Amino acid sequence: MDNKTLQNLIVNQMSSGVNLRPLAGFKMDFSANPEFQKVFFAASCECGTSALLSLEVSIHKSDYEINNALPSLIEKLQNQEKSFRSMNCTMHGMMRKGFIEDKDE
Ligand SMILES: [Zn+2]
Repeated sequence: MDNKTLQNLIVNQMSSGVNLRPLAGFKMDFSANPEFQKVFFAASCECGTSALLSLEVSIHKSDYEINNALPSLIEKLQNQEKSFRSMNCTMHGMMRKGFIEDKDE
């Protein structure tokens, strides 16, 4: 199963009200474990801050196994999304400022 298919499956089965955008994979993922395929999603807040969320699926899993595992994968993703939402925008702003400062150095 390729990343796009997996992302589409996840997006289609996510509960409404969860607002995640599938992202293309990153080529420069140095920590990537070759045994896992990684899919990325972005959660964004109206204040303009986005968080990167990711899921890992073993490449040894068949499509059938992935389908069976989907509910728990989606739950993980929704928990990540929830913790981003539970931060207020002051905290989001600090996150963003932190990123910008890191970049400037
Ligand atoms: Zn915010």
